[in-house]
Amino acid sequence: MVQQLGPRPDGSIPFSVEFNPPRDAAGEARLWRAAREFERLHPAFVSMTYGAGGSTRDRTIRVTGQLARETTLLTVAHLTAVDHSVAELRSIVGAYADAGIRNLLVLRGDPPGDVLGEWIKHPEGVEYAEELVRMVRDLGDFHVGVASFPQGHPRSTDLDQDTRFLVSKLRAGAEYSITQMFFDVEHYLRLRDRVIACDPIEGAKPIIPELMPVTSLRTVQRAEELSGRPLPAKVMERLRKAAGNGPDEDRAAVRACGIEIATEMAQRLISEGAPCLHFITLNFAKATSEVLANLGYTMSATPAHA
Ligand SMILES: Cc1cc2nc3c(=O)[nH]c(=O)nc-3n(C[C@H](O)[C@H](O)[C@H](O)COP(=O)(O)OP(=O)(O)OC[C@H]3O[C@@H](n4cnc5c(N)ncnc54)[C@H](O)[C@@H]3O)c2cc1C
Repeated sequence: MVQQLGPRPDGSIPFSVEFNPPRDAAGEARLWRAAREFERLHPAFVSMTYGAGGSTRDRTIRVTGQLARETTLLTVAHLTAVDHSVAELRSIVGAYADAGIRNLLVLRGDPPGDVLGEWIKHPEGVEYAEELVRMVRDLGDFHVGVASFPQGHPRSTDLDQDTRFLVSKLRAGAEYSITQMFFDVEHYLRLRDRVIACDPIEGAKPIIPELMPVTSLRTVQRAEELSGRPLPAKVMERLRKAAGNGPDEDRAAVRACGIEIATEMAQRLISEGAPCLHFITLNFAKATSEVLANLGYTMSATPAHA
């Protein structure tokens, strides 16, 4: 997977997208529409998040396997330790391997229902993502990525300690990290500096920045829930100004503003040498495609790897 990162022969930077497991048949159809549209833009990879709850999990593994088998997209499956024993985790990794998936984003996961709630380890499970990285690497020839946090993990009070925990995950065998979404590029750059200062060898591994184009004030709320952080005041000011003072938000203006903010961030990240741009899509292709179009990425009639 890491071979897909860094500048391409034409000088462009690869991009990748994150999908969520669909909840029902309509959601599944929407995911497939987005996947087919992204195929024509040639992402370096697509990733599928992993949620809590038995039925969601079965669907997640099935749909992720289908994406890997039935499209040209390099598929990365997220794996979390929430509510799983080590034996269950091994069997999930086996199910992904059977589906042809060799790339896993290995995470501890959040307590179900409350991102900031108390983490309770499964009695026969793992405590930290680092242990899961070792377990997956011991199970076979998997390419492993982990999470990184430009402003520190929401529970963490010490940025340097947080950086050391990230470096431990990389030393345990992770090849790259994908960041929590952020809206201030300085936070990404400072994370990169901290990791290099902590360990120059591990600091050379790609840190992929995660972006989310805001398309409405409701997605701001979602972005804050996902990142566990409020959006920077300057960003909120621009979005509120776009929303206007009327009783209803000017949705077209907020959307245009959100796309503009994501485009500006992407441009700065490219100029700062980011290895790839990872977009949260919420299973819609349109907003991310617009940002990519602003950056000069073009669609082709056929997928790149066909
Ligand atoms: C790109 C990305 C994708 C994500 N995808 C998903 C998903 O699909 N499903 C999902 O449920 N969640 C997902 N998350 C959220 C993630 O699971 C949570 O943020 C979780 O709380 C932390 O996961 P982690 O893998 O970083 O855990 P860890 O690295 O284990 O860290 C968890 C906490 O423990 C601390 N810590 C780590 N190691 C040690 C140690 N040795 N001693 C003491 N403290 C330690 C860390 O500072 C942190 O506060 C994602 C996050 C990111 C950034």
